Amino acid sequence: MQITISDKILHFKQPAGTSRGVYTTRHSYYVTIEKDGVRGIGECATLPDLSCDTLGSDDAYRQTLSQLCQLTASMGSIPFDLLRPYPSMLFGLETAMAQVNAGGSLDFFHTPFGRGEEGIPMNGLVWMGTFEEMYARMKAKLDAGFHCIKLKIGAIDWDRELSLVQFIRQHFSKEDIELRVDANGGFTPENAMSRLEQLAKYDVHSIEQPIRQHQWKEMAALCRNTPLPIALDEELIGVNLKMMKEDLLDTIRPQYIILKPSLHGGMRGTEEWIALARSRGIGSWITSALESNIGLNAIAQLAAKIYGPHISMPQGLGTGQLFTDNIPLDHAVLQLRGDKLWLK
Ligand SMILES: [Mg+2]
Repeated sequence: MQITISDKILHFKQPAGTSRGVYTTRHSYYVTIEKDGVRGIGECATLPDLSCDTLGSDDAYRQTLSQLCQLTASMGSIPFDLLRPYPSMLFGLETAMAQVNAGGSLDFFHTPFGRGEEGIPMNGLVWMGTFEEMYARMKAKLDAGFHCIKLKIGAIDWDRELSLVQFIRQHFSKEDIELRVDANGGFTPENAMSRLEQLAKYDVHSIEQPIRQHQWKEMAALCRNTPLPIALDEELIGVNLKMMKEDLLDTIRPQYIILKPSLHGGMRGTEEWIALARSRGIGSWITSALESNIGLNAIAQLAAKIYGPHISMPQGLGTGQLFTDNIPLDHAVLQLRGDKLWLK
């Protein structure tokens, strides 16, 4: 087995906003595994200030990645427990290995999605704006075929955000559109409960990360009393050991967890999270985190493996249209049709 590393700076078509700032470029490393003439490629990429494994510099990242690739090559398999602290590297290696194990095919796990027979439903993202802008953006998503919309809240004036949610619900009923909101930790333990109560009046499906992570006691109290399902996202970053995952789920008892494989444990760590959640009656969905086509395909293949076939819960997958210089997939494209992502 041989593993090689290359890298590329990808350029966003439009600056990409996250809970930790705005990015114009993305530095992705690509690991290629070759075994018995079969090749697989995986993407390793971190988000500065968000990932637990940026290691402070590009040099340090490349060095550690290179060591872990050498180790994987000499062992002939991925040393999962050793890679737990490096979810982005683990995810890339798992992607490449999955492709090799699938004989070089992009249909990693032999799913209807992987064969191009069914799509995966997704939520659409709508940015906050004026009443007119919001109406136009919501209408456009609905016309495009979306049934589930995610709104990023917690960033501007709360009263204004709440009146925008109210305005949306006046024009688009619960039957028209499932509304998810993401506060990205924008509420405080003091104001969160009253805000959750206000939001619950407008039939909101769920709220992501109402308060900042690392406040388990406060988050647990919210999850116990909330009128609105709470989904943990940033909270899961850096929680890489199985015992810590169990501890977090048992302490906070969220209604949902949201898994980003490159941030939350790679493929195997994500599957571990979901199995632990399921056994506690906690729901989940998977989302991408600004990956190029290589990473995005891997996340979609994983979602299809875990939740498929016939996924009904919308996932948070990207559209593959983020970058001006995206990496093409071998003989295939990721395509958005209506609200579903297809591999064709
Ligand atoms: Mg989020």
